[in-house]
Amino acid sequence: MTDSGPVALMSVTLTTPEGVLRGKVSVDTGPMRLAELVPTAYELTNVLVAQAAGREEKAGRRISCRAGCGACCCHMVAASPPEAFYLMDLIDSFEPPHRAEVMSRIERIVNELERQQMIDELMDPVHKDEVVLPIARKYFLLGLPCPFLVDESCSIHLHRPVVCREYNVTTPADLCVDPVANDITKVPMPLPLTVPLARLTAELTGTPPCLIPIPLVPRWIEQHQDVRQRQWPGLELFQNFLNILGPQAASRS
Ligand code: SF4
Repeated sequence: MTDSGPVALMSVTLTTPEGVLRGKVSVDTGPMRLAELVPTAYELTNVLVAQAAGREEKAGRRISCRAGCGACCCHMVAASPPEAFYLMDLIDSFEPPHRAEVMSRIERIVNELERQQMIDELMDPVHKDEVVLPIARKYFLLGLPCPFLVDESCSIHLHRPVVCREYNVTTPADLCVDPVANDITKVPMPLPLTVPLARLTAELTGTPPCLIPIPLVPRWIEQHQDVRQRQWPGLELFQNFLNILGPQAASRS
């Protein structure tokens, strides 16, 4: 999808509220765009999700999420700016007919959000729960499936954002069709990574941290092409990200 430069295998020690976790991730060492940090963030997320799943299993609970279940994919799913750049790169890498199909699904959703006069509030970078939760509820009630949901399956499973990887439940998957009416037990994540990715971008660009609902990614990118193309030294970018996560350690394997 993107030209990857030289890669280093890094041993990472993550200190989470549930204990210390060790894993290995690969990091691009050359000049790197924010989008190119995303595969590393996905690797870290997978390690953290595996830890959370192991804890649930030990407690006798089973994660009910499974491939082919798109019950949670009508929620307002928001990505951090690096993931927005990554998703746009992904869309741009599709063959023209496939790209056009995805862009047309996105356009249909954006048209509906425009009709509902929701664009401004969805693009607002102020993310306080009391503000975001009613917007998320209103969005959910519109019944707009994610533009990447095809036949009730995620068509970009390997590339799905951190927030989708972190959303796992131990209650029956069907209950996720209405997260407000139903009592859903989500698996707590020891170290969620979406907001830290947004904070990294904010620190690097001197702008407020923001999250972008998936269908608004192309529109948001139009206004942030300069940040999309900007590069930083890869290892420095990764270390900055770890610093935001807290007292974490990383060394070359
Ligand atoms: S990216 Fe995939 S998993 Fe995430 S909301 Fe969209 S379809 Fe669902």
